[in-house]
Amino acid sequence: MVNKVWLHHNSWDEVAEYLKRSQVIIIPVGSIEQHGEHLPLGTDTMVAEAIAQSVAEQAGVLTAPAVSYGWSPHHMVLPGTVTIRPEVLIEYLYDVIESLAQHGFKKFLLLNGHRIVNISWMQIAGERAKRKLAVDVLVADPAYLSKELAKQEGMGLIGHADELETSHMLYVRGEFVQMEKARDFSHQRPDYKQVDPRVEKDTLCYVPSTKEEMGESVRAAGGTSGQPTRSSVEFGAKYHDWVVAKLVTIIKEWQISN
Ligand SMILES: [Zn+2]
Repeated sequence: MVNKVWLHHNSWDEVAEYLKRSQVIIIPVGSIEQHGEHLPLGTDTMVAEAIAQSVAEQAGVLTAPAVSYGWSPHHMVLPGTVTIRPEVLIEYLYDVIESLAQHGFKKFLLLNGHRIVNISWMQIAGERAKRKLAVDVLVADPAYLSKELAKQEGMGLIGHADELETSHMLYVRGEFVQMEKARDFSHQRPDYKQVDPRVEKDTLCYVPSTKEEMGESVRAAGGTSGQPTRSSVEFGAKYHDWVVAKLVTIIKEWQISN
């Protein structure tokens, strides 16, 4: 299906027309990594694309095709996972931004679908683009954008293939979710190793998962961490709309700023 909010669904002259009224473009970034037995490997890319498409439609802006691969060394314990070295990802994302900047795009919203491990290299690529290309860059992460909602809903810690991610997938790509295979598991981490922006215990930015930790969740729940069995399409819709609304507001303010 042709959807004109996607850059690659347009012809060059349509892009030239767009650039007369807006210089904003979204770049969704995901990963191809194990998401338990109940979600597909492309979950992070699919959710980033779904948010990007809704935001683009509502804000009237374009979105580039996703950077589908991410940095996923901690998920290499299970088959199908692909991990790209962050130095390669920085160069790749920078080249996408540089190409688009040459044509007149000036405001880049880098939209993460893969949580904390993608953020570091996205920030480096974004910072470099800002400095060298004189463009503006925002790095957005749904885990930060949905902090208040998570609090309001009494959500537990952010996991992996968890209630939030599974609910979101039920809403945006339900055909890929196999709820009958969902299993719950909670990683026990000391307070000083909390890296969840939603909880007050959050003290660190990133604690790389060890092979042993990943092995534990593989044995207990097929690579899941969290409570996917509590997922619902209703919560997925609420979460999606919440994140989209925040981003639409941000883009509208940003469009009119210098
Ligand atoms: Zn994920």
